[in-house]
Amino acid sequence: MDADVSGNNDRRRVDGDGTTAGTTTGPAGAAGATPGTTAGAPAAATAATTGATPATTGAAPGDAAGAGSVAAFTRDWLHRNRDTLTGWRRHLHRNPELSHREEGTTAFIVDTLTAAGLDPHRLPGTGVTVDIGEGDGPVLAFRGDIDALPLDEVTGLDYASRVPGVMHACGHDIHTTVVLGLACALAEYRREHPLPLRVRCIFQPAEEVMGGGATDVIAAGALAGVGHIFALHCEPKLRTGEIGLRTGAITSAADVVEVVLTGPGGHTSRPHLTADLVYAAGALITQLPALLSRTVDPRTGTVLTFGAVNGGSAFNAVPREVRLLGTLRTGDVRVWRTAEETFTALVERIVAPTGARVEVRYTKGVPPVMNDDVATSVLARAAEGVDPHGVREAPQSSGGEDFSWYTERVPGSMARLGSWTGVGEKPDLHQPDIVFDEGCIPVGVALFAGVVDHLHPGSPGM
Ligand SMILES: [Zn+2]
Ligand SMILES: [Zn+2]
Repeated sequence: MDADVSGNNDRRRVDGDGTTAGTTTGPAGAAGATPGTTAGAPAAATAATTGATPATTGAAPGDAAGAGSVAAFTRDWLHRNRDTLTGWRRHLHRNPELSHREEGTTAFIVDTLTAAGLDPHRLPGTGVTVDIGEGDGPVLAFRGDIDALPLDEVTGLDYASRVPGVMHACGHDIHTTVVLGLACALAEYRREHPLPLRVRCIFQPAEEVMGGGATDVIAAGALAGVGHIFALHCEPKLRTGEIGLRTGAITSAADVVEVVLTGPGGHTSRPHLTADLVYAAGALITQLPALLSRTVDPRTGTVLTFGAVNGGSAFNAVPREVRLLGTLRTGDVRVWRTAEETFTALVERIVAPTGARVEVRYTKGVPPVMNDDVATSVLARAAEGVDPHGVREAPQSSGGEDFSWYTERVPGSMARLGSWTGVGEKPDLHQPDIVFDEGCIPVGVALFAGVVDHLHPGSPGM
């Protein structure tokens, strides 16, 4: 744990409508000085920093975001703990760990939750869950992923990765901090108010690898009793303070395809006496994407691309083996469910006249994350409580996300959390020079706190 992890002295008063007295002096406050955020805890701090219009919550006392609500309490908690959150995030950023090896991260999460008076549960291997609140109704779950990527960080930040070849370049350190912040804010809320709703925070390992952590976490029982589940992902294409939402598919499925063609080989002067595998491969490369686009609805965003073709070594010899490797992506979960059969049948039909033997090795990736209508409307109301001017419609990404394994089982929704400072080029995820604006952390915590209010028994959102 780093020296800056325990900093918790940024106490200031917040009055009933969420406006703040005092100024933000912490590094997160400086990083989060973003125009355009006008409500909610982070926005209140921002307004104090920038001298912008005082914050308004857009919610009357007594409703889901009013006085006594989790959102109002969390706004105050965020003002008092902003530096602490920054410290947690920087500790995680300095000490990234690869998928399935998040031992130090798991220990840090367990220690932080325990210090907040909670009773965390370690998952087999790595990862943590913790339940907060009581009640027999459906559990409300929030998922944060905790793993980093095999990249050498080149940001030059003073809190850059200390681990050569490993970097939090997908923002999972921020996701972890947001869910950790929510858990600790709720722990404190419960000391002063009843929380007749069980909230489960899931710290999931190994999001970045195939056969990843979500399926292990679900197998360990993390979804038992869960009625709704929510997640967010940093979005460097959106400015800090903006929240991107989408009903339906927000990510895509990505499967890995391999086709292995084999034949007896021969002399190139006599291709009619053998199976010409290079010709067969050429037929596949040109005909397969075209036939696929005539087999599935093009509006589903189904795309087959070969990235590697290997075969042959001599200009005058027909090879005995040719391999093609690629990805099949689709934005439609129904297409994804039958993609393997569709792909294999088309390959066999194209190759049959060439006489080549063909083997298809199809590796299922993840399905698209399907954002449920009701869950997304809950997120939308919570986002409006954070900043009514900050809500954006998110486009569907062609990337994959294993949060989809949760939304296959229970209704849920994933939000895009704006994390661009608004200065310079918009960076891209998974790049060694990406810098996330830490000002997005309190926005994420405030968003999830609003979701708790809207799914609270007896809240106007129910
Ligand atoms: Zn990633
Ligand atoms: Zn990610």
